[in-house]
Amino acid sequence: MSKQLPVRARVYVGGTALVAAALAATAIEMVPGHGGVLLPLMPGIAFLIALAECLQLRFLHRDMIQTVSVTEGTFAPLIFRGSGLQVVVVVGIGLIVASLIRRPGLTKSIFNTAMWVAASSVGALVFTYSGAGTGVATSSDVLALLCGVFAAFLTNQILFSGIMWCSAGHPLGTDNATIGWMVLAGRGGSLVASFILGLLMTSAYEWESWTMLLVAGPLVFLWLAGRAEASVRADRRLLDTLQGATHYLASSLDQSIALRQSLTEARHGFEVPEIQLVLVNERGFPTIHRCTATDGYSVEIAPHGLAEILNDTLIEPTRIGAGTPDHVVPLARLGHTRAIAAPLRSAHASIGVLLLLDREGAEGFEAGELAVAGALAREIVGFLARVELVKAIDEERRKLADIVENTGDGILSLDSDGTILSWNAGMAVITGYSAEEMVDTRHFGLLRPRDAQGSDMHLGSWADRPGSSSMSAEMQVIASDGSTVWLSCSYSRVPAREGHDESLIIVARNITKARELELLKDDFIAVVSHELRTPLVPIKGWAQTLLNRGDRLNDDQRRTAVRSILTQAQRLEALVLNILESSRVEAGQAEALDAVDVAAVAVHVVEDVLAARPDRQIRVQPPQVPSQVRGSTVWVERAISNLVANAVKYSPDDEAVDVLVSVSGGVVTVSVTDRGPGINPESQERIFERFERLEESHKQTGTGLGLYITRRLARGMGGDVTVSSLPGAGSTFVLTLPELTSPATVLPPTQRRTENVVNLG
Ligand code: ADP
Repeated sequence: MSKQLPVRARVYVGGTALVAAALAATAIEMVPGHGGVLLPLMPGIAFLIALAECLQLRFLHRDMIQTVSVTEGTFAPLIFRGSGLQVVVVVGIGLIVASLIRRPGLTKSIFNTAMWVAASSVGALVFTYSGAGTGVATSSDVLALLCGVFAAFLTNQILFSGIMWCSAGHPLGTDNATIGWMVLAGRGGSLVASFILGLLMTSAYEWESWTMLLVAGPLVFLWLAGRAEASVRADRRLLDTLQGATHYLASSLDQSIALRQSLTEARHGFEVPEIQLVLVNERGFPTIHRCTATDGYSVEIAPHGLAEILNDTLIEPTRIGAGTPDHVVPLARLGHTRAIAAPLRSAHASIGVLLLLDREGAEGFEAGELAVAGALAREIVGFLARVELVKAIDEERRKLADIVENTGDGILSLDSDGTILSWNAGMAVITGYSAEEMVDTRHFGLLRPRDAQGSDMHLGSWADRPGSSSMSAEMQVIASDGSTVWLSCSYSRVPAREGHDESLIIVARNITKARELELLKDDFIAVVSHELRTPLVPIKGWAQTLLNRGDRLNDDQRRTAVRSILTQAQRLEALVLNILESSRVEAGQAEALDAVDVAAVAVHVVEDVLAARPDRQIRVQPPQVPSQVRGSTVWVERAISNLVANAVKYSPDDEAVDVLVSVSGGVVTVSVTDRGPGINPESQERIFERFERLEESHKQTGTGLGLYITRRLARGMGGDVTVSSLPGAGSTFVLTLPELTSPATVLPPTQRRTENVVNLG
């Protein structure tokens, strides 16, 4: 009570001491004594008072423990015979001795002493002024004595209720009606017992004064009997507590809920005002789970001096307090004087400590409580280990679920009769069927699975086939949008376990693209070898002719032969360059970036094309302003060359091709316009993909790589290439590249002006 006593309670204690002093002075003044108490017996009476104060009797009533105090009875002979001075001095000494034994703290000692001095003074005054005083044991003297004892009891009760009011806010220390009645019953019992003890002691004193002291015997025996009974009761209560606390630890894996309930139960069972469970992590940082009578349960991460000492040293449950000097100061910092500390040990390492704080009174903590505290600490360790285990399992499951859900591969499992047990997000993306549609159904057949040869696969009956090697590694299925998806599958059989049948896990990778590419590559190799061979035929033919009959050919014929060789060689070169560039672009290799004059490159490209096809009309129109970009000359040349070559290839020989270079808004644009067959809108994007060629172009030779390369190169330099076309009217391919504006890299104007409007056709 003394430690967190509110200020008003301290003031009240001061007031009580003053009242006690005043009442003592009045009693000393007004009570002359009725024969006086024999001096040698006075220490004996003080001893009895101290004994009665320390050895309070406890009894159990309706599961609640009540205390019976008979202190008033022990000073009845003093009231009967003694003077006011004797009463005050002997009661005062008795209470001081009791305080020294019980050590309830200074404030409480002062209050108890003052309260009993006041009560005994009132008792002596009432006895004196109630018509007694003859010193002869007449019935009126007996009545007066009972009045004196009752007055002392009443004073005591009033002063005690006052301190309860000040410290606990209620005169009975509780506003629970049942408990209130029990407290009153305990006090009534105390009064009756005090009456009886007082009469017996007074009678003994009158008969043979020293025999009065023999009452100490029954007092001690009663106390011992009460203690024995209390300890049996306490053991039962503690076992109930342990069972209750353990039950809460077993019934929830939510750490805060289980610890709240369990510690609350333990606090009630141990009858302590506070319990602290301090868990110290690997880095030595304490988390304090605190459960108090006033504030309930709370958790806090904070330094904890006592737990830090105990965590390193404590091996078994121990009582700490005055007997363990190392702990007194950190314990006092927590506001307590006594505690039981039980270590939390897991695999020989200490993970924290359980502290039961604080038991007041002479008894302190009992040995049985140490054992129960130790058992509770072990239960808590087991609980924390279970929580950790569940956390670890949860974490593993979460990781596994993340992997299964976030992998691009499809993962599904089937039970032995073909029911789909799981269907991950990857499977939903690949097939277009969601987990909700598929799980718990036998709808795998919806996908119409077929093997690489196109034969139907009956996965529902997988369990009838031995092993998984008989199942096709490549499977084609029909997705929800009707498209065919190729899957590369691996199969794992999971053997039957307790409560689970055998199941099949299929991991399916979408290889549709890779398969298409494979087919395209096969096509490509066929096309390229044909393309490479085609120009070689005329080259070889003309070369042969020149060699065998060169002297018989006229100049025109020779020129035709050489031009044909040149044209075919250029075709070969363009083809080889495209293939080379294609693999370089695929490998992510970039040319060194430089300032490139786009107009100059365009003119140069057109000149080259015209050299091979002098029969064609190709008009090039460079801009009046510089048309510099940052890029690679080779790349720009390749891009323009592909566009011009296509325009020439896919438009009639008698139609002109226009190449227009312009600069505007920081963009250099090269437009290549032909008057060929044009490209229908649906195919205008497709032709930029690898190996894509239009049906109608198949009479022309080609690889389907030119536009793909052109776009990759343009994008590699921060630009793009697009097409606009009207079927039947021709096409315009537009290459755009960001202009390089830095003046340092602009070419001298003289060099530009030489390339004006050229009509090389
Ligand atoms: P290739 O010309 O070797 O076939 P490209 O990638 O250069 O490959 O062109 C892809 C397809 O785009 C061509 O096969 C053709 O069908 C179409 N195409 C390209 N340029 C034109 C054009 N100027 N006019 C009509 N169709 C074209």
